[in-house]
Amino acid sequence: TGTVVIIGAGHAGYQLAASLRQHGFAERIVLLNDEGHLPYQRPPLSKAYLKGTGGPDSLMFRPEKFYLDQKIDLISDRAVSIDRAARKVALASGASLDYGHLVLATGARNRLLDIPNANLDSVRYLRTLDESQSLRDYITEGQRVVVIGAGFIGLEFAATARAKGLEVDVVELATRVMARAVTSEISEFFQSRHTAAGIRIHLGVQVTSIESDGHKVTGVSLSDGRHMKADLIVVGVGVLPNVELAAEAGLPVASGIMVDEHLLTADPNISAIGDCALFASPRFGGSLRLESVQNATDHARCVAARLTGDAKPYDGLPWFWSDQGPDKLQIAGLTTGYDRVVVRGDQAKAAFSAFCYRGGQLVGIESVNRAGDHMFGRRLLAAHGSITPEQAADASFDLKSALT
Ligand code: FAD
Repeated sequence: TGTVVIIGAGHAGYQLAASLRQHGFAERIVLLNDEGHLPYQRPPLSKAYLKGTGGPDSLMFRPEKFYLDQKIDLISDRAVSIDRAARKVALASGASLDYGHLVLATGARNRLLDIPNANLDSVRYLRTLDESQSLRDYITEGQRVVVIGAGFIGLEFAATARAKGLEVDVVELATRVMARAVTSEISEFFQSRHTAAGIRIHLGVQVTSIESDGHKVTGVSLSDGRHMKADLIVVGVGVLPNVELAAEAGLPVASGIMVDEHLLTADPNISAIGDCALFASPRFGGSLRLESVQNATDHARCVAARLTGDAKPYDGLPWFWSDQGPDKLQIAGLTTGYDRVVVRGDQAKAAFSAFCYRGGQLVGIESVNRAGDHMFGRRLLAAHGSITPEQAADASFDLKSALT
């Protein structure tokens, strides 16, 4: 194989470097890191880290010694172009790297708000450790924050901010929260929990302008004509995959860097993994781009296996979690394209799951404070199993009996 160069030291890039060594890969590994920290975990940035007092070290996958011991060349630099014919990556510092195999693990970046005043200091985003740290330092009790977007990150931030005593308004264009990602059963549950905690949620409206005193945000106007005062705006309107390096190198890109079921691009010397990759999925048919830790780390393990002589098509089962206030949402499988939802458990007791079916086949389970259902779903779905909707709805049906 020769030297493996990995562009991006997020969840996917870090895991690939670690897994290559675990699989006995003996050649040079270069892990390019363009953030000013050792590789770190993102999920706590909108959860425990934002809430707590821990330092950046609490987020690191491994201490610096790990990279030295494992002979992983963790280089602080940014890739600026790829010369596929010469198998070279040019870096922002002016240096260049030769590769035998190149892996694009460039992740995604915040989608920016495109309205006047969106560049004010009190308009914030939440993707990197630096962004989370500076938000944590900035927020104080009594401030008024408008959160734009009721997706996972917007709602996780909203719950944390509310717990810290801020006045929180969430503005969402869709007619329910997390509409793109979860069933309406789950949306309604979280909407009512956040509302009960004192968060005001405004659905079916958009922020059309940001008012300022010339320096700071003072308020926002909504598409329905309302105005709201605000000291701070936090934007969570999704991400854009970092596909530009691949596109400029002439590799096919669509809503992600296109890769086959082995996570290889059109160039046999270049793979793409994690948030940036649009991968062909035999399991689901068609192509998928997912944004989750599971997807990033399982992609990494699949490519590490291939590069050490054990090539198999990628067949990871998607799973995900989101912590919002006291509640834990966990998703197993892909809960899109379902035609029937069966609820198991008790919504009123804040412990239930939505079992999603397509054509009578279980495709995914969304669980609220029901870790057992979630783990069951991961095992059953990974094995391409199913239970009937009647069994799912029957509280006396023993889920474990379906796992043989
Ligand atoms: P990233 O983690 O984005 O890493 C890509 C890295 O590549 C970045 O460091 C980037 O700066 C770098 N890079 C890009 N271009 C270059 C270049 N040209 N040269 C060098 N480096 C480059 N997922 C869950 O499953 N559960 C959760 O609860 C959850 N919570 C989240 C909370 C937050 C606040 C965020 C932001 C994400 C959360 N996610 C969660 C999603 C999860 O973190 C991502 O899916 C995961 O980080 C993807 O890993 P990745 O390595 O593909 O990309």
